[in-house]
Amino acid sequence: MKLAELGEFGLIESIRARAHCTDPAVVVGIGDDCAVFSSPNSGVTVISTDLLIEDVHFLRRAVTPKDLGYKSAAVNLSDIAAMGASPRFALLSLALPADLDVSWLAEFQSGFLGLLREHNTTLIGGDTTRGEKISISVTVIGESVPEGVKLRSGACVGDLVCVTDYLGDSAGGLRGILNEIPSNESLSRLIQRHYRPLPQISLGRFLASRKAVTAMMDVSDGVASDVGHICRQSKVGAVINVDLLPVSPDLALLCSQFGWDSRSLAATGGEDYCLLFTVSPDGLSDIQSAVQKEGGAELHIIGEIVEEKRGVEFRTKDGESISMNETFSHFGVNG
Ligand code: ADP
Ligand code: MG
Repeated sequence: MKLAELGEFGLIESIRARAHCTDPAVVVGIGDDCAVFSSPNSGVTVISTDLLIEDVHFLRRAVTPKDLGYKSAAVNLSDIAAMGASPRFALLSLALPADLDVSWLAEFQSGFLGLLREHNTTLIGGDTTRGEKISISVTVIGESVPEGVKLRSGACVGDLVCVTDYLGDSAGGLRGILNEIPSNESLSRLIQRHYRPLPQISLGRFLASRKAVTAMMDVSDGVASDVGHICRQSKVGAVINVDLLPVSPDLALLCSQFGWDSRSLAATGGEDYCLLFTVSPDGLSDIQSAVQKEGGAELHIIGEIVEEKRGVEFRTKDGESISMNETFSHFGVNG
């Protein structure tokens, strides 16, 4: 069946039925002019929105609707993780072509709602319209306490710069797809990381609860550019050691097979959706052992915060300074 036969209200009803709201905090869910939810006293609300447009952010023929639904939720949940908050509610606005098959939408919803459910997040509304291309706008609302929110602006000179996962896997997966490389086990794991990034919600909450952590964000543009965001907002500089950027065995293997530069992919690849944070050096070992005890992620130190006037510098392990333009220009996935 095509979407045109189902109609706008049929479509909304199918979403409402699948979203199956049982959250007691939702006073009014899908179906009225506004959603209504009760919020805990003395808390703060965090909110973020993202837009995904066909042919700009994704190619319909290259991504399964289920993965697209998953990723639409994941990139928004990752923004909530980056604040150290807990996601609670989501809004989903869709522009869809009338000749789209209803099964496409069902698959999309299953990817989207499946990930929301894993993170106790309820779909409470949205908007639906016809459009020539698919557009997906997702808004996620989360909760925290005032002292539990970590911003980009708190980094101090002397802090260490850390990431919570390997870098460059998503970009490596994308490159494999674009270059139509025949799939093997390593490549399919990287492609999985590209289509199904894991939003680090509980790790974000844990890191945000630690005083020693001074600034945090998620890695969406690529760590080279994202470190720049923290530096600008914190009025500091940074020295990043490109040989410390963590590269997964899968990415390393593909780089050696195809002559890709793993350092460049790790620095500028983007869409890894792990966390980037700064931490005062005396607080790190406590945090590291607490994270390990939970069986959680490995934390990787990649550099240090320095005075603002030094800007963001990239160096090799031998101390040689690398100019981003010369070294990384071929890899400008995100410009
Ligand atoms: P309005 O005319 O006030 O915009 P709609 O008919 O667009 O109302 O929407 C009716 C209800 O369905 C609202 O509660 C709205 O939030 C919800 N809704 C519409 N589209 C979606 C969607 N894509 N996902 C979730 N809820 C939706
Ligand atoms: Mg509407």
